[in-house]
Amino acid sequence: MALMITDECINCGACEPECPNTAIYEGGMNWSLDGRSNESLINDYFYIVPEKCTECVGFHNEPQCRAVCPVDCIIINPDHVESKEELLEKKEKLNLIER
Ligand code: SF4
Ligand code: SF4
Repeated sequence: MALMITDECINCGACEPECPNTAIYEGGMNWSLDGRSNESLINDYFYIVPEKCTECVGFHNEPQCRAVCPVDCIIINPDHVESKEELLEKKEKLNLIER
């Protein structure tokens, strides 16, 4: 599963540098993958790009963003349910391209 940030986010920015996949962006900022820039998914608070979140599988034992969020506003994204194998595969693919 990818994780997602809810509107309870207080924009503290603590999670963003912790992500090994650079999947977290400040609201309103474009996100990038494979050399392409894409429009912001959310404008008012930090967001996670589902295509880039591996739930930290392959890097850490627990999602690093969740571990540092002071208001516990990072939850499982119900629209992006993936198995551990799929997440590992995603991690390998992400490692091969520009993030
Ligand atoms: S769970 Fe891990 S990979 Fe996903 S957004 Fe959080 S820190 Fe990044
Ligand atoms: S750590 Fe939590 S409150 Fe801070 S920016 Fe990230 S999601 Fe928002």
